[in-house]
Amino acid sequence: MPQRASQLSYSVHDSDFPHFQEELRARAHALRAEVRDTLLKSNREQYAELAGQVHDAGEESLADLLVDVNQAEIARDIRELRDIEAAQRRIANGSYGICLDCDENIARARLDAYPTAKRCLKCQQAHEKAQGARPPSSL
Ligand SMILES: [Zn+2]
Repeated sequence: MPQRASQLSYSVHDSDFPHFQEELRARAHALRAEVRDTLLKSNREQYAELAGQVHDAGEESLADLLVDVNQAEIARDIRELRDIEAAQRRIANGSYGICLDCDENIARARLDAYPTAKRCLKCQQAHEKAQGARPPSSL
């Protein structure tokens, strides 16, 4: 049990950042493709036009571009893209892998499972409890 605990608490270091950078980049790429496909399938002129823009959009501008699109599937993808962008900013400023609430290192295993995690497991659970059973807010 103790050995396992120490393994789980292994945290990320600067040298791990390129690995997570790549994970996040790949995930963002997949999400953008998903958003584009969803828009193309939606058969609405406005969305078809947006889909063309998504194709050319830079990483930063996509979320802003799609902020008015009110479609659950896309809204979820956009939220994740925003989380990815935030994680990429934390990598850039060196705060990646540090819990937002308690400043402790986030376990490597948790970041492997959720590269966009901004809280340690304990704080995330407390956070979710505080939020109650409220459904995710719409955009
Ligand atoms: Zn924490």
